[in-house]
Amino acid sequence: MKVLVVNCGSSSIKYQLFEMPNRQVLSKGLVERIGERESAMSFTQGGQTHRRTCEVRDHEEAMALILETLLAGDGEAVLSDISQIKAVGHRVVHGGEAFTGSVLIDEKVIASIERVADLAPLHNPPNLVGIRAAMHEMPDVPQIACFDTAFHTTIPPVAYLYALPYELYEKFGIRRYGFHGTSHRYVARRAAEMLGRHKYDINCITCHLGNGSSAAAVRNGRSVDTSMGLTPLEGLVMGTRTGDFDPAILFYLADKGYDAATLNDMCNKKSGVLGLSGLSNDMRTLGEQARAGHKRAQLAIDVFCYRIKKYIGAYAAVLGRLDAVIFTGGIGENAADLRAKMCSELNLLGITIDEQRNSETVGREGRITTDASPTAVLVIPTNEEAAIANDTYELSQTA
Ligand code: ADP
Repeated sequence: MKVLVVNCGSSSIKYQLFEMPNRQVLSKGLVERIGERESAMSFTQGGQTHRRTCEVRDHEEAMALILETLLAGDGEAVLSDISQIKAVGHRVVHGGEAFTGSVLIDEKVIASIERVADLAPLHNPPNLVGIRAAMHEMPDVPQIACFDTAFHTTIPPVAYLYALPYELYEKFGIRRYGFHGTSHRYVARRAAEMLGRHKYDINCITCHLGNGSSAAAVRNGRSVDTSMGLTPLEGLVMGTRTGDFDPAILFYLADKGYDAATLNDMCNKKSGVLGLSGLSNDMRTLGEQARAGHKRAQLAIDVFCYRIKKYIGAYAAVLGRLDAVIFTGGIGENAADLRAKMCSELNLLGITIDEQRNSETVGREGRITTDASPTAVLVIPTNEEAAIANDTYELSQTA
């Protein structure tokens, strides 16, 4: 059975076509710069990667182009007819408190996603556009929504409430929601498999470290705390986002004449390791520059790693028993030197890194602690698309 997974941004659509239930990827690609004069499409199909520029006016045209490509794809068709797609899974960033798992989309679900759109103004509206475009092109196919927030809906009030006037939670829904949930859930489940445990019998800390980064405390397979908050700004230091900092800095800067839009832009786009280094948001570049003696590149890496270590300590205290720490995302999967730094002197948590295993585990799954280390540190490449395809497959069976 063929399942299409769609991740729709404001000017792009990423997609993957899966053969389910074995999760074989038949095709994957990206349409970007939608709405601009020169849009671009790249896709991999039949072992070949293609790139082309074209004019794609809106998301509906982009969706039509994706389907056309699956049917033709420069001579490498993976579908003989669109009706072979039996379900479509959509990544939706914010599900608010309403969605505790993936759901079959109907008008009521669309209305609920619209209601929480002001909590994720950059993400939910394009996600909805993608859903409507897919419904338009494939009206008889079940469409499923998978929310970044869903895995974190098990977080208790003690961890999701901010110490602000309680009415703000009641009136505006201001609380911690958390993101990257599909990734945290995927790696937590996979870690349970790797350790021979039931999926609801694992206590672990999952660290998703990419351009955006977040950590989660997972007790008995369920998220009980996470570092991102009302928005993805809170928590770990990221490529361009601050992570945690004293909110009074904003009032201080407001007094100095900075307006809200400037501060928003600064905190989301000009901070993080980019802001600290003054160089780049890309960890590879920072690593190279630090090795060449660039002091602020090294400083940015050090602050990034220190923050993660601090969260690992905090979440270990939250969990009590800790079976595993998991690294995923571009940095978590690849940057062995950074992992070693984040896990240094963590013997009190039962963590002893095996240097050789760590340096050999790059871009692949593996355990990087010594056999004697009571707590396992695991590297698990994330696969959010496969997780969405799984949910979509399962829900479409009941549709
Ligand atoms: P996104 O959050 O955009 O999905 P990714 O999960 O792909 O991002 O992670 C991107 C980050 O991973 C970048 O900072 C990149 O430099 C970093 N990264 C990728 N490969 C390596 C590597 N070999 N060493 C260090 N960092 C890496």
